[in-house]
Amino acid sequence: MNISVMTLFPHMIESYMSESIMKRAIEKDIISVKIYNIRDFSENKHKKVDDYPFGGGAGMVMTPQPIYSTFDKVIEDMGLDMSTKPKLIYLSPKGRTFDQEYAKELSKEENLVFLCGHYEGIDQRIIDSIVSDEFSIGDYVLTGGELPAMVMIDSISRLIPGVLGTNESFEDESFENDLLEYPHYTRPRTFNGMDVPDVIISGNHKKIDEWRLNESKKITQERRPDLWKKYKNREK
Ligand code: SAM
Repeated sequence: MNISVMTLFPHMIESYMSESIMKRAIEKDIISVKIYNIRDFSENKHKKVDDYPFGGGAGMVMTPQPIYSTFDKVIEDMGLDMSTKPKLIYLSPKGRTFDQEYAKELSKEENLVFLCGHYEGIDQRIIDSIVSDEFSIGDYVLTGGELPAMVMIDSISRLIPGVLGTNESFEDESFENDLLEYPHYTRPRTFNGMDVPDVIISGNHKKIDEWRLNESKKITQERRPDLWKKYKNREK
């Protein structure tokens, strides 16, 4: 998958992509991440990228020209054009709330472009003309779109075959089948007087699977009535 990120703060993205599983996925050529500094594309002589909002009000708004020109370059680098353009995702508190289902859907795309906003956000005409999807990562407001972009890139990338190693799997994870995951235990068997549940060390895999499913059900019912309802509907 080819991922491009349009941002005013490229170092934030670079630093995340140069560690751990993201780094490995890039080295293995499963994903590529290109970062574009929107400021580099500003035609303003002072490289300005924001201005006061028409109609007044607090804060600044990102101007359309540098964003449009950056996207133009992104699609040119992908060998595409405006008529074959890839998905351009604008990170925004006003977007649809991103979740595991969207991560799965987006993990099948060949090209994805992320646009990180700042200040009060971006000129609406960019959203109306070139943005294909607006996603929020939750009901709170952050200072910029870089963390949300990294959250989305991370969760999408790990679903691409080959990104996780054979001993790291997402098949039993939270949100699969609308259940939260069961508790994990590792060595030692006793820690600060607390024992690992007997069944986990019984060696009986049928029993272990049953115990895990029951724990998953219990925790989902307790913590996420919304998911539990979906799970129960599946069973019908
Ligand atoms: N004025 C905007 C509003 O009230 O909806 C908030 C702008 S926020 C301070 C600046 C940028 O951070 C946004 O343009 C967006 O890119 C990003 N951002 C902030 N919170 C976000 C969230 N929950 N999900 C996705 N992006 C977010």
